[in-house]
Amino acid sequence: MRAARLIVPVVLVVVVGVGLRQYQAGRIVAVDTGFRGTMGTWAQVIAVGPNAVAESCAEKGFAELVRIDEAMSDFKETSELSKVNRDAFREKVPVSEELFSLLQTSVEYSRLSDGGFDVTIGPLVDLWRKAGRTNTTPTEAQLAAARAKVGYEKLILDPADRSVRFAVEGMRLDLGAIAKGYAVDRAIEILRQGGAVGGMVNLGGNIRTFGRPVGDKRNWRIGLRDPTDPNHIQLTLRLDGWAVATSGDYERFVFVEGQKVSHILDPATRRGATGLTSVTILARTGLEADALSTTVTVMGKDKGLALIERLPDTEAILIEPDKPDEPIFSSGVKDFVIP
Ligand code: AMP
Ligand code: MG
Repeated sequence: MRAARLIVPVVLVVVVGVGLRQYQAGRIVAVDTGFRGTMGTWAQVIAVGPNAVAESCAEKGFAELVRIDEAMSDFKETSELSKVNRDAFREKVPVSEELFSLLQTSVEYSRLSDGGFDVTIGPLVDLWRKAGRTNTTPTEAQLAAARAKVGYEKLILDPADRSVRFAVEGMRLDLGAIAKGYAVDRAIEILRQGGAVGGMVNLGGNIRTFGRPVGDKRNWRIGLRDPTDPNHIQLTLRLDGWAVATSGDYERFVFVEGQKVSHILDPATRRGATGLTSVTILARTGLEADALSTTVTVMGKDKGLALIERLPDTEAILIEPDKPDEPIFSSGVKDFVIP
């Protein structure tokens, strides 16, 4: 893979090999970790700078992704998030500044979307995962019972002692829609602090860049894949320090009794979101791009696009299920498209 041209992994391609790779232009090199597994997906960090700086930055950037996975994964029993999920109904659980702030931000996205985005979605995620395994559609009673344990208004965040509490038993936080974008921001920050002059972090299609790629390339370019044909690049975007994230139902879903159910669930219907096949967001930070790609997927085309037009420095590319060849652009996307 060349340093300056990346492809958002829609159907995730397994790239083997964990050795650092280098691309040279004079004394400035780009060091590329290659794709390695973390946060339930594949991640790649590229750091640009003098040799030793680029090498140490790439490794430290990647280590930051792993650190955040250890803290925020709901799969790992030892994570800070899992402790909250275990104990927060019984007692207040004091948490790190980092987790507290991410939960506060999550609640802001819930308010922005009228509850469409919700980090307390865990019980519904569990129910639909089980439905996928057993190939049995949940009953209305099961859906209602899970929904009763979902709701950001039942999440009690106390800034006084930085604690988390659940108002209802059986609640479960799931940071799957926002933690990757946050991790990308943190890794970029580590690259900057380490003295890199440019870089790129790609965590399962959540991408952010800064500075310039190595050599005569002027900008970081991101290719968006055609949802119906993974070999075809539908659009090439110039990123210039921005972040991009894609949420899509062709990426992750379960089949239940012949029905495809998106991994993104609508708290209002208690079912998979259906209106959009793919939502790509361009924003200044990975966190915003990640949170908004999920948010707009749940809100649907009209409300989602209206939200994006209202927010500064935010653009969207939407694809509807029956119109894969007619992507819908928010008003500023044209400035990013490379003809
Ligand atoms: P993303 O790929 O960033 O759109 O995130 C999808 C993941 O977010 C899912 O796999 C769930 O873990 C979680 N999720 C699903 N539905 C929602 C929702 N309505 N609000 C917040 N997170 C969600
Ligand atoms: Mg997201």
